[in-house]
Amino acid sequence: MTGHENNLSHLRIGLDIGGTNIEALAVDPSFNVVGKFSRATHADTPEHLVASAVDAIQQVLAEAQVTPRHLNSIGIGVPGLVETETGIVRLAANLNLTAYPLGAVITQTFGVPTFLENDVRLAAIGVYRWLQEREITANMAYLSIGTGVSAGVVLNGRLHRGSHGMAGEIGHITVEPNGALCNCGARGCLETIIAGPAIVKQARGQVSFAVADHEVHAGHVYQAARQGNPAAQKIIKRVGDYMARAVQYLIMTYDVDKVIVGGGVTAAGAAFLTPLFTGLAKLRQQSDLFDTMLSENKLCLLPQDYNAGTWGAVYLPDELHQH
Ligand SMILES: [Zn+2]
Repeated sequence: MTGHENNLSHLRIGLDIGGTNIEALAVDPSFNVVGKFSRATHADTPEHLVASAVDAIQQVLAEAQVTPRHLNSIGIGVPGLVETETGIVRLAANLNLTAYPLGAVITQTFGVPTFLENDVRLAAIGVYRWLQEREITANMAYLSIGTGVSAGVVLNGRLHRGSHGMAGEIGHITVEPNGALCNCGARGCLETIIAGPAIVKQARGQVSFAVADHEVHAGHVYQAARQGNPAAQKIIKRVGDYMARAVQYLIMTYDVDKVIVGGGVTAAGAAFLTPLFTGLAKLRQQSDLFDTMLSENKLCLLPQDYNAGTWGAVYLPDELHQH
């Protein structure tokens, strides 16, 4: 069928624009996947960023063998402060965007309604849909631990955005007033302890690795801990305790039934989960309230192969039209 249009229509495209890669997904009206594409993000100028996003959309259209007139909507996740109503990216430092009308630009390019949302809020929509296929849950939080730390919260089946779409930005809760300097300018944010780069930073000079310095990621620290390196074990234990607190904050603030954890750092799998469960168990021992609220079965790992961002992006129009 190459070179021919097929008869698909009313398709949706979901785009997850990260600092490194853009992931694109196309689905039919029954949410069957009809196209997928991934490419590098060029974010040195807004023009290059738009060109990368447009290319990702064109490539996924080509894979589905359709043209823009077969599309119903485009949903886009952006790492930053996003105005969903206007389609303006207020601030996305990793993408070099400030007050940029990304929604309008993409709408004009393809002639298709385009919706924007913060990437982690959007991923929470995707995670919620994933969870609903396994168990019916009205209240859920998605905790993303990767280059940064952030959460997205679904309450009574709806994404909880807050006044500025920033509800769930727990990476910037102060946990150590005199702690390490955070990217946001403050000291001792949760992110300075449990984010991937923070885990690596704590291991520098303490743990020696078989790979070059710039190639070390959090997974290597977990691996060293598993292999019995005492310094790595100490770091991972501390990180696990603070991750448990992140879960505690989400459960105590929103009374969610589930906290689904995802993001690059969770790729360590069991090595990641064990210290987190240990941290939760320590909290449970402290009080009957914690013992009741912080049960182990509230915590769940998102499978690495589920792309919550792009799935959230294809479901985004439904979320916005529920008002
Ligand atoms: Zn911060």
